Amino acid sequence: MDFTPLKTLSLSLQTLVERKLWAKVLVGMFMGALVGLFLSSKISHFPTEYGVVISNWLSVPGKLFLKMIQMIMMPLIFVSIITGIVNSPVEELKKIGGFIIFYFFLSTIISVFIGVGTSLLINPGGMFPEDNQYARQTVKNQIYSQGDFVNLPEYMMEILPGNPLASMVSGELLSVVVFTFIIGISITQLKDQYKQPIILFSSSIQQICITVVKWAMRLVPYAVFGLMTNLVYSTGTETLKGLAIYLETVFVAFLFMVMVYSILLLISGRNPLVFFKKSKEVLLLAFSTTSSAAVMPLSIQTAQEKLKISKHISNLIIPLGTTINMDGTAIYQCVSTVFIAQVCGLNLDVSTLLFIVITITLASIGTPGIPGAGIVVLASTLEGMGIPTAALVLIVGLERILGMFRTMVNVIGDLTACVIFEKFT
Ligand code: ASP
Repeated sequence: MDFTPLKTLSLSLQTLVERKLWAKVLVGMFMGALVGLFLSSKISHFPTEYGVVISNWLSVPGKLFLKMIQMIMMPLIFVSIITGIVNSPVEELKKIGGFIIFYFFLSTIISVFIGVGTSLLINPGGMFPEDNQYARQTVKNQIYSQGDFVNLPEYMMEILPGNPLASMVSGELLSVVVFTFIIGISITQLKDQYKQPIILFSSSIQQICITVVKWAMRLVPYAVFGLMTNLVYSTGTETLKGLAIYLETVFVAFLFMVMVYSILLLISGRNPLVFFKKSKEVLLLAFSTTSSAAVMPLSIQTAQEKLKISKHISNLIIPLGTTINMDGTAIYQCVSTVFIAQVCGLNLDVSTLLFIVITITLASIGTPGIPGAGIVVLASTLEGMGIPTAALVLIVGLERILGMFRTMVNVIGDLTACVIFEKFT
């Protein structure tokens, strides 16, 4: 397999890390909260009409960031699933591919349940005043929550799109992922002369999307500053408490998932502490680059040389896992969706929760292993629930920090899968 584009991506991300993007984001967030507090505080006596204008103008980079990620969302999901499927070694895939996909699916479902369960228990959105600006916007859009089990069969049939282009245009993620899987698998059946142009074309589109996402990421510190100012100015200090609890919820859920991995490692006869010690370099690199695709070559090397996983297992599981096994991302997307839904006052009944579970399972599979992809795909999940993507403003400030942790969880998930398949196949 040719990893050259990933190595280039890895290098350019290292540059971003060296320029301390994450530190700039933290500074932006902190300064934004301060400016927002200053504009809204009674002590500063800042005239309201100026405050609104300033906070609106400051939120322009943030809105630009959100537009850029929305713009690139569909092509990015489409090509990353296709390239993921067509780049997997077909012979190995035929032998143990079914089991691997079943395992990845199961671990994603576990993460989704952990994510939803933790957020329902902690209720991070409960901190927000019920009558906030997002709740007012959403009521008009609340299309899904009237769903019920009676309509479920019909709804399930709708997942297979009659008109895939229409699904792409209207942002129906679920249908697009299903359609793309079918196309991806059918491409593997083609003769080489027909297959190669499509592979090349998809890889080029993927590179274009990665470039645009990289540009968007450079905007993040300014986006975070302005959005935070706007958020704190319009919603007040309760917002900060709410965000702290949201952050806590994601971390608690990540911790649960790491416990699940540790149990799986123990079952496979490995000491989890030794496993983490041997994987520490790749995990730190994943943390600082926020890209599991960028660290893929090092993940393969770690699996083979440090964890003593055979080549035929690691060469298959790591690339496939980097594409479709995103437990950290699934947890992040679940907690964020439930949090935003709670803030927007959406009725979280059983059918809505089921919708979240199904959509995020597929959404995380469709999320490519590049920085910020988790929030890009999250945008379409929210759209599917009738929540305006503008509500992402709430969590965009914490995106980078959570991106670092969820990428690390994603990579732990792939390495754990290698250990399990080494032991049991
Ligand atoms: N950055 C993550 C990864 O590479 C994907 C995400 O943004 O959730 O694994």
